[in-house]
Amino acid sequence: MPPEQPVKAAREARKNLGVGEESRLPDILKLIEGTARVPVFLQALPDGLSGAYRLKGGAPFILVSNAVAPVRQRFTLAHEYGHHVLGHGSLLDTEETLRDFTHDPREVDANKFAAEFLAPIRAIQNWMEAHDQPAVDLEVVVRVADAFGISAAAARIRLEAARFLTSPQARKRITEAIEAGEHRQLEARLGLGGVTDELSRLYREGRDRKSTETWDKTLDAWEQRYISLRKAAQILGISTGELEQEIARRRIVQVVDGSDPEFDVDEDDVG
Ligand SMILES: [Zn+2]
Repeated sequence: MPPEQPVKAAREARKNLGVGEESRLPDILKLIEGTARVPVFLQALPDGLSGAYRLKGGAPFILVSNAVAPVRQRFTLAHEYGHHVLGHGSLLDTEETLRDFTHDPREVDANKFAAEFLAPIRAIQNWMEAHDQPAVDLEVVVRVADAFGISAAAARIRLEAARFLTSPQARKRITEAIEAGEHRQLEARLGLGGVTDELSRLYREGRDRKSTETWDKTLDAWEQRYISLRKAAQILGISTGELEQEIARRRIVQVVDGSDPEFDVDEDDVG
């Protein structure tokens, strides 16, 4: 496929889905499931798998690992949708195939598709114009990443593709800063929260639900004297002092000791 083909396909796909190429996607999950009508399954995938595009009896569907942050889920989803639009047939994706150093032409094309689908050159130009064409430094990269719901590394590449990052020195400086993780501190300092969409909502809720369940189960086991305070703190990943404070706050009182020995459970069975 000629190098420009996947990029054109991404612009065409956006147009067909009614979102054009002027701005960021409103909500990629809703767009692909609701408008494009390709079912998406967000779930834990076997080791090493980040996503997959499948055709079963001619019916397409997409799998995305939901164990990673929403920025990565968005990229995987856009990449899998690229396989769909570009007519690649069933494929499995790992961390390797979702990166730019993959050599499989279908993966290279799906990555180009995903980059333009999430952050079109035109939309990047619009963002820069709306912000008075700032000189690109780490802060601009972080703000673009935040606005489009993509990673800082991806935003750096998009700004370069849109010819806003032409100085090799600036490119080198920014790449090194991202590799050192400086973009995360900057993100926190600027108070950026990323794109709010269905993927970020599900990610947040999934995490909260899991931790609430674990907390309840663990405190219950401690209350019933099935596990020690130390063990409970270990399960919850906090210090015994922090746990004591939380127990006091929740006004939990352990059942009276010396009860029926049949309640004795091996510590490792709980949690
Ligand atoms: Zn792929």
